[in-house]
Amino acid sequence: EGATTSPEPLHIVHVAVEMAPIAKVGGLGDVVTSISRAVQDMGHNVEIILPKYSFLSHSPLLQNMQYECTFHWGGCNHEVFWATVEDVRVFFIDCQNSMFNTGSVYGQKDDGERFDFFSKAALEFMLQTNRQPDIIHCHDWSTARTAKYLWEDFHNNGLWKPRAVFTIHNLDFGEAKIGEAMFHSQIATTVSPSYAGEVSGNPAVSSQLGKFHGVLNGIDPDIWGPEDDGFLPLKYTAETVVEGKAAAREALRNRLGLTGWGDKPLVGVVSRLTAQKGIHLIKHAAGHTVSRGAQFVLLGSAPDPKIQAEFHGLANGLQGQDAAFYYAYDEPLSHLIYAACDVILVPSIFEPCGLTQLIAMQYGAVPCVRQTGGLRDTVFDVDHDKARAAWEMHGSADPEVPPTLTLALHAPPLTPSETGTANQMLAGVCGA
Ligand code: ADP
Repeated sequence: EGATTSPEPLHIVHVAVEMAPIAKVGGLGDVVTSISRAVQDMGHNVEIILPKYSFLSHSPLLQNMQYECTFHWGGCNHEVFWATVEDVRVFFIDCQNSMFNTGSVYGQKDDGERFDFFSKAALEFMLQTNRQPDIIHCHDWSTARTAKYLWEDFHNNGLWKPRAVFTIHNLDFGEAKIGEAMFHSQIATTVSPSYAGEVSGNPAVSSQLGKFHGVLNGIDPDIWGPEDDGFLPLKYTAETVVEGKAAAREALRNRLGLTGWGDKPLVGVVSRLTAQKGIHLIKHAAGHTVSRGAQFVLLGSAPDPKIQAEFHGLANGLQGQDAAFYYAYDEPLSHLIYAACDVILVPSIFEPCGLTQLIAMQYGAVPCVRQTGGLRDTVFDVDHDKARAAWEMHGSADPEVPPTLTLALHAPPLTPSETGTANQMLAGVCGA
């Protein structure tokens, strides 16, 4: 009898503002989907509640959205719809005051008030539909108030059963609300043990350490995996990785106009372009990569026009046929980049967990990361940390583990020449 499975399935409701792939900005969206699927697979009953943003109407996955109910609260009617997304039941609350008639998840002046209103509307929906979940799980500053409202306004007014779980995906935003949720939740988590340690001194967290746990994020291999990825020109496994990656490289080069001669190593970045992500290191890496005879590709969603302008300047100084900079949020292109690249670069200044390094390993690309937060917990170099490599491979510290096994343990084994290339890249990128 495993200690982690309870005899009775639990009813768990996530209240979130992102969910991959229909409303994803970054890792929060991935994790809301993947944790829901994983917990549902353990036999629990999982539901997700999202705002019904107007941009969802364009989603091919939501064409058969069903009407669920209408409830009145907060001075207006709320229509609720549902759909099954990635095998999980999702409810969409449509506030009839047009609050979520937005073209993106974030970016309105009143994001804070809108998400507080949504958090309360989600609790009201549970109350008015006689739901008594065992757990209400809220995420980051955006739905942090769900925990506070649950205990201050709803617990004594009918929503007696639920307990609150709160997860910090990034403490950098909305510390005050995060502090409130830390106080009101019964369990609080963050997305890696290292990040839990790094933020333990923060006033929003420090008085609540007894209920605070660093639980490492994962990726869902059914969503991120080259064996069954419809965005790739050729699906591949560890056995067919050479052909699969070659086909992806060719498709990517054609798409982005990387016409430089020869099949050069490819170094890639898939990232929001914010200071957190190590902009200056990304820029250095682009220059080093090209000057050492490799190719560089960046897929960046850039909310800050100043940062984007800096990249424009850099791109102009590089040989266009060996470096491509693509400024957009583009899910299909991101898959192609992970598959095409030999190295995925993640030089974040801080990183609560980070998913791109995990995706890279899944697609047979070597992650090259700064040692911080979840990057430290998920990536290490077998050449420099043989004891950890042995432990990960065999469950015991055997310093004799051969360094050519893999650089990143989840990636298919590299050939000696690939290892040489990877080490050269690492030296070029990190040794600067
Ligand atoms: P964060 O949540 O801080 O953005 P993570 O590494 O946790 O960083 O998650 C990033 C997720 O968003 C990954 O799934 C990554 O592939 C995706 N992503 C980031 N930037 C882009 C982009 N420009 N286009 C498509 N996907 C992106």
